[in-house]
Amino acid sequence: MEKASKTPAYEGLMVKRIQNGTVIDHILPGHGFKVVQMLGLDKFPDTIAILLNAKSDKLPTGRKDLIKVSNRVFTEEELNIIAVISPTATINVVENSQVIKKFGVKIPKKIIGFFKCPNNKCITNHEDHPAEFSIKNVNSEDMKNRSATTLHTVRVKCEFCERSFELDQLIIPVITQEEV
Ligand SMILES: [Zn+2]
Repeated sequence: MEKASKTPAYEGLMVKRIQNGTVIDHILPGHGFKVVQMLGLDKFPDTIAILLNAKSDKLPTGRKDLIKVSNRVFTEEELNIIAVISPTATINVVENSQVIKKFGVKIPKKIIGFFKCPNNKCITNHEDHPAEFSIKNVNSEDMKNRSATTLHTVRVKCEFCERSFELDQLIIPVITQEEV
């Protein structure tokens, strides 16, 4: 365990600005924790601030989740996962306390190699082949207009065994810390 720093544990109502890293903003309320889990951020060794159900003027839900990750930039693949979980998300890349890039996420047609297929008999679990899932029933306009209390579920189909699953059923691979 590290010794406690001089920074007070309580830093005010809103989370502190980050110096370097990424802010994932405008996540649909209720979906922030899923982003944390699916991207393995709970195991990330640097500071993560998670704000749940914050007020939002931009989202029709009136509420949003927000995640600040220090010293981390997300890959295209990870941004795709964020998009599938919450198509409303906006990404702010921060360097030296300045937002140097800001953009929305885009739902991919497919997710390749990020998840494993839950079907034991699927060929991707027996041969060295990444699983591919096509994304079904995602309509970002529709999702943006969901009420704050509705969680959206996304269905995906394995391109190899053709089984359909909920996104939550997919098996998340062990996250390595190589990118740190
Ligand atoms: Zn499969």
